[in-house]
Amino acid sequence: MQPMNLFKNLFSLFYPELCVGCSEALIEAERFFCLGCVLNLPKTNYHLNPENRASDRLLGKIPVVRASSFLYYNKSGLGQKLVAEIKYRGNIYLGKWIGSYAAKEMLPSGFFQDIDFIVPVPLHRKKLRKRGFNQSEVVAQGISAVTHIPLHTKNLYRKRANVSQTTKGVFDRWKNTQGIFDLKQVDLFEDKHVLLVDDVLTTGATLEACAKALFRSKNIKISIFTVAIA
Ligand SMILES: [Zn+2]
Repeated sequence: MQPMNLFKNLFSLFYPELCVGCSEALIEAERFFCLGCVLNLPKTNYHLNPENRASDRLLGKIPVVRASSFLYYNKSGLGQKLVAEIKYRGNIYLGKWIGSYAAKEMLPSGFFQDIDFIVPVPLHRKKLRKRGFNQSEVVAQGISAVTHIPLHTKNLYRKRANVSQTTKGVFDRWKNTQGIFDLKQVDLFEDKHVLLVDDVLTTGATLEACAKALFRSKNIKISIFTVAIA
């Protein structure tokens, strides 16, 4: 055994890694979730059905080629625990893992077909500095690793930081997000099919605001992926 592995095993004997879902100690072959929780991930399988709750929710707001959310986001459920672990506990490895995991499952369905760029919903630069990472970007990295579709993080940007959305109603959330994104270079996305990636689909106001900026590019096509749908 390598000294480093020995150290790691001794360490995990006293401080075992815990399952994000049920807090049980993980065994060596497990990562982030125990086998039971992986099998219980609340998958939507929306990618198998072009008309699903994610595409329905964006209907009339964003003309999309395809839209899918990978997990259901229920209070205290595995979807919510996963998103919280990434976003609020900074587990960027889990973000990449779920992006790759979802992409592997969705790849055979043709969901990623013809997509030129993966574009995560950007954070404002001040927020990015404070948090240290963009939760949508780490998920997008995981998707990119499996699909080999390049990530594009420099064109779509957030012009101003918005105040917390969690306490606002539907209209206020919508008003709060409109006009806050823009493109640095409109022609970069011309004639391109872009996969916009976010963590949770709630009202769709954030994605709609991103789409509004993206549609400044001529003949752009947009598809949507979110980790979970509330
Ligand atoms: Zn578990």
